Amino acid sequence: MILGGLAAVVVIAVITTAVLVTKKLTGRKQVNPADVKVPEYVKVDLLTPNKYSRPQTPLEKVNGIVVHYVANPCSTALENRNYFEGLKDQTGSKTTSASSHFVIGLEGEVVQCIPLDEVAYASNNRNSDTISIECCHPDETGKFYDSTYQTLVNLCAYLCVEFDLKPDDIIRHYDVTGKICPKYFVDHPEEWETFHKDVKNAIRILKK
Ligand SMILES: [Zn+2]
Repeated sequence: MILGGLAAVVVIAVITTAVLVTKKLTGRKQVNPADVKVPEYVKVDLLTPNKYSRPQTPLEKVNGIVVHYVANPCSTALENRNYFEGLKDQTGSKTTSASSHFVIGLEGEVVQCIPLDEVAYASNNRNSDTISIECCHPDETGKFYDSTYQTLVNLCAYLCVEFDLKPDDIIRHYDVTGKICPKYFVDHPEEWETFHKDVKNAIRILKK
């Protein structure tokens, strides 16, 4: 009985040490994407599994969030989601692969296309360890409406808390490949800095 108790204490000590060492090595706790729920304001409208937009490749870790703009002025969140969905029907030799975990619309609504524990095709070599967010915009400047911006801040803050990320772990598609995406935040780096500050504040409020 005493030996059993001792064994249990040893096992717990070993597990605790392993968790602490992992946290020390990575600088933060490792969160299994399958354990994270999306906020209730997200409309879940997952794509049909298919090789061009939802290949169902497991996303095992999340080290960052990549922000994009849809580059199609005035298109809605649902239209962009349906574009990704339509890629499953491609025929011929020249095909497109594209998708995103989330699309934020012109009124700040959010559609989820890909589960958090699956890879989306949005951010090139960072697809394997990031969550992607596409944002709709009214014109060619790529500037988001306030409603879209506010939802982006809130969703990023939520994901930062859930995945133990820092605002600096939120990057632009531009930071991955040099692509001018999201255009407004590439053209206005000071606005991107402000965005990071807004997310930082939103994280603070969420953690209260
Ligand atoms: Zn992009």
